Amino acid sequence: MRTLEKNDQFGFDGLHQSLLPWQPTRATGLAMLQQFLPKAGRIYQAQRNEDSGSGNHFNVSRLSPYLRRRMLSEQEVLAKVLGQHSPSDAFKFVQEVFWRTYWKGWLEHRPLLWQGYQQDLREVSDTLAGDKWRRDSYNRAVDGQTEIQPFNEWVQELRETGYLHNHARMWFASIWIFTLGLPWQLGADFFLRHLLDGDPASNTLGWRWVAGLHTQGKIYLATASNIRKCGAARVHTYCDHDSGLARLATSAQPITETLSAMALQKQPLEWPKPFAARGESTDGLGLLLTDDDLALDLPFQPTGVVALPASPRSDVAATSPLVQAFSKGAIADAVQRAEIAYASTLRAPSLTADGLDDVMQWVDAHGIKELVHAYVPSGNNQQTIAQLQTVLAGRGVRLTSFMRDYDRLVWPHAQKGFFQLGKRIPEFLAAMELAEAPTEQKAFGD
Ligand SMILES: Cc1cc2nc3c(=O)[nH]c(=O)nc-3n(C[C@H](O)[C@H](O)[C@H](O)COP(=O)(O)OP(=O)(O)OC[C@H]3O[C@@H](n4cnc5c(N)ncnc54)[C@H](O)[C@@H]3O)c2cc1C
Repeated sequence: MRTLEKNDQFGFDGLHQSLLPWQPTRATGLAMLQQFLPKAGRIYQAQRNEDSGSGNHFNVSRLSPYLRRRMLSEQEVLAKVLGQHSPSDAFKFVQEVFWRTYWKGWLEHRPLLWQGYQQDLREVSDTLAGDKWRRDSYNRAVDGQTEIQPFNEWVQELRETGYLHNHARMWFASIWIFTLGLPWQLGADFFLRHLLDGDPASNTLGWRWVAGLHTQGKIYLATASNIRKCGAARVHTYCDHDSGLARLATSAQPITETLSAMALQKQPLEWPKPFAARGESTDGLGLLLTDDDLALDLPFQPTGVVALPASPRSDVAATSPLVQAFSKGAIADAVQRAEIAYASTLRAPSLTADGLDDVMQWVDAHGIKELVHAYVPSGNNQQTIAQLQTVLAGRGVRLTSFMRDYDRLVWPHAQKGFFQLGKRIPEFLAAMELAEAPTEQKAFGD
């Protein structure tokens, strides 16, 4: 592995588990949701844009590490929120959850984009290695040693907690690209390796949106006045000169696209077929868990459970120890939950695998004839699944994926801009029986 960051050289030693800001369990996610519920309506709408500083993000849910791994599903979070607030009071929160689904679906419609971005990232990272000026500038940024104080604080918060507020992510990405002049690909990689919720779709496309590559010609420019207003907790003790906000770029052009037309091309989607019941006997039917989907509402009863380890987040540098610890804990929690949920059908001891060899040995030892997993979206796990499919096929074992109804419902509408999807939110909520069917076409939130 190439290594971009000297600070990331220390390996995972397990100690980081105790440094995690939140326990990587579904129970913790549910407790956080319960605590946030009273605020998910008008309070969220009014206060969600404030970055209140590390450890003080009580205006937002901080559920993203759980939603990203489907330790909590989008549908159940929406159901809880709409159980306490009317759709019109909760519309901002509901809309944000659908932003996540929009990015996931949009990326699924471009199945070559993730590999294209990986290739681009490797090239940009190689170029950095041979360019001392840029490398120094990159190192100052990721070490939080720039002349922009709030930026340095965000770096520290990200490294120490694995979380940044949405507004901070937008400002950070904008300053990275337009003030520091660094390649967006390296910024997206830095985020992905350090965010507990690091997600190939929301993150890569979020960076591209800020850079002006998603909505053509429309960049997001962070301004000193907006940071002073919504990030007051960070900067109220400094004047713009001392905080470095006076240095922010005040105008910028969209950056040049480096992904190929092929990578950006929309393709017809081939969804996995709905899972077909196997009749009475589910002998030899194993559940394969990945950290893309740790939900256990399954269309079958497994006789064995095996979990893949989380794939490294990057080809060019190490995943942060916090992210490794969270993912590892989340997978262990899911296996434990599965052991309880399927105690009556499980015949084989469950396994948290270290790699594909472990999975193969387990499959052989327990006579597994078919492994079933929730659909794995664009990202690094897809490659692991493709490798697994090849080795399993060599042994005559089937690998079957099933798709969640929620994704099947919403992703087809994530092909263009968010507006196209957003206006259908009332229909989606009605289809999930979370709200009454809309009587007329109204924009969501009216
Ligand atoms: C440059 C950049 C990179 C980002 N990288 C990621 C990432 O890797 N993973 C990730 O989950 N989100 C990412 N986001 C989106 C957003 O910042 C986070 O989802 C949000 O800050 C998570 O905090 P929360 O759970 O407290 O959000 P809340 O405000 O409480 O929102 C509730 C849920 O809605 C979803 N959500 C909210 N805002 C967005 C959004 N703008 N886009 C997509 N989903 C959203 C999340 O699942 C979130 O948990 C990124 C945004 C930007 C601008």
